[in-house]
Amino acid sequence: MKKNMNYGDDYKFIPATSVQSGVSQEILPDLYAHTIQIANIVFYSIPGSNDFVLIDAGMPKSAEEIIAVAENRFGENAKAKAIILTHGHFDHVGAIIELVEHWQVPVFAHALELPYLTGEQDYPEPDPSVDSGLVAKMSPMFPNEAIDLGEFVQELQSDGTVPFMEGFKWIHTPGHTPGHVSLFRERDGALIAGDAFVTVKQESLYKVFTQEKEVNGPPQYLTPDWDAAFESVKKLAALKPSIAVTGHGVPMSGAELTNGLEKLVEQFQQIALPKNAK
Ligand SMILES: [Zn+2]
Ligand SMILES: [Zn+2]
Repeated sequence: MKKNMNYGDDYKFIPATSVQSGVSQEILPDLYAHTIQIANIVFYSIPGSNDFVLIDAGMPKSAEEIIAVAENRFGENAKAKAIILTHGHFDHVGAIIELVEHWQVPVFAHALELPYLTGEQDYPEPDPSVDSGLVAKMSPMFPNEAIDLGEFVQELQSDGTVPFMEGFKWIHTPGHTPGHVSLFRERDGALIAGDAFVTVKQESLYKVFTQEKEVNGPPQYLTPDWDAAFESVKKLAALKPSIAVTGHGVPMSGAELTNGLEKLVEQFQQIALPKNAK
């Protein structure tokens, strides 16, 4: 019994890009990041094998690129063992159905994110009034309908472990979405943050294009709960990550990351909150 998976009716290619689009980067020996237009995906190498785990699934219509990057890095018949989603926004699940079909892999997400991944609940409409930046202004065209992964998506285990990613724990970081998670490895302080915070001002088309670095809060036009978003940023800052790859923007490490997170916590209202917050 296989239910057909589907993207919502508003699924489409989004014409936005950055200087980093198509660029891959080794973050750590077992973490490899790749930028699809304006969103990042991460490959985790499973020790002692050619297998890998994919974290997030890129922009709409990017499956061919993702498979090519994977084969280039892990070998021609390399297969994902699992796909972990930080959350279900269109720019993190854009290629997921083709990838699930290609690799026949399970998808894992937080229990509170499942309604958006099983066709039950749409995300709120993006809010273009949050900022004068052009990405914010174009956000009403972004897909916000629930996708349906049917039986391919399942809940992350409640003990915090991450399938096939030994040493990593998932951390609930809601605010941007109800079931948003970040992945953290205590041993070396590696953080895969998703959109809990990002390293670019995602509302600005110019800054997104140039990928100018700054630690910022979650993309404003798609963030409904700012109290929770602030708590999540504090939670991640308290972990003192040594290196972070975020859903948008370039990877950051060391003092730049520490200071950026400290400043974001201290000045959350000025830096992260929408100027026109209702
Ligand atoms: Zn998002
Ligand atoms: Zn995003």
